[in-house]
Amino acid sequence: MGWEELRKKQPRVVKTLTNSLKKNRLAHAYVFEGGNGTGKMETALMLARAFLCREKNGVSPCGECSDCRRIDSGNHPDVHIVSPEGQSIKIDQIRGLQKEFSYHGMESEKKVYIVEHADKMTVQAANSLLKFLEEPTSPTIACILTEQVHRLLDTILSRSQVLSFSPLPPDLLVEALTEEGISLPLAKITAALTNDKSKAHEICREEWFAQARDKVIQLTEGLRNRPNHVLVTLQENWLSLFKEKNQLDIFLSLLLIWYKDLLFIQLSEPDKLIFIDQEDRLKEQALQNSQKRLSEKMLAILTAKQRLGANVNPQALMEQLVLRLREG
Ligand SMILES: [Zn+2]
Repeated sequence: MGWEELRKKQPRVVKTLTNSLKKNRLAHAYVFEGGNGTGKMETALMLARAFLCREKNGVSPCGECSDCRRIDSGNHPDVHIVSPEGQSIKIDQIRGLQKEFSYHGMESEKKVYIVEHADKMTVQAANSLLKFLEEPTSPTIACILTEQVHRLLDTILSRSQVLSFSPLPPDLLVEALTEEGISLPLAKITAALTNDKSKAHEICREEWFAQARDKVIQLTEGLRNRPNHVLVTLQENWLSLFKEKNQLDIFLSLLLIWYKDLLFIQLSEPDKLIFIDQEDRLKEQALQNSQKRLSEKMLAILTAKQRLGANVNPQALMEQLVLRLREG
């Protein structure tokens, strides 16, 4: 993994860091904030290599010297990673870090420390880290990683350069999910719902999520083939499936994605489909809807989503939506 690879995920962050490396003006402390899976730890390790490698070419570490290799294998004496033990990062862990740093490095004075899930620091640990940031000893870089930047002390933020990691673009999230064994059709749909990798995992694991996907197909097929029965099926079979408002919201999002897919078929842009394993069915349904009608139906779904947020009775809301989708 090099800067180029990271640049695909986080162009702004990589630009900032490589510029500072070029000018030899790295900050003493960075806060890397952003969602799960956005590359915060990879970037911190990359920065550590670029900082410590003695064979580097411009801003790029060589990847082969003993510094680079020991960072890769997680046992460089001057790179320390602190992670939560159980629920929190405790003061003893930060003290241990300070103790390590009071010794001179084995081969250089330079040191890097990375605090992962820094929002999990106890108040005492955070204050202890703050003191550490205020008194940089040898040339040191601190990388403070968090998914919840609002939980960090203002005083820590004000002593650090805060770099925000953008959510992953959907295609990169799909790639990451499939690499972890999630099927491509499921990864596509999930990445259309969220750009946070841990949320995507959570959704994929839910049993009702697979059912929700099936219900979208059933509902749209029902509207096409047996429009007069759709309401009965809805009342008998579906409403019990979406007990939580959040589940109904996701169902509505999936339905919206389905109609968008129909629009993509009509616009002859099949490579943009999200329900990639349903192309044949989508093509059949697309024949029966004009673009104008599809837009109207999408608007009806969006309105239903908004009203769901405003405490409307879910059953009444769904019945009304189905009636509007059935028109025309
Ligand atoms: Zn190297």
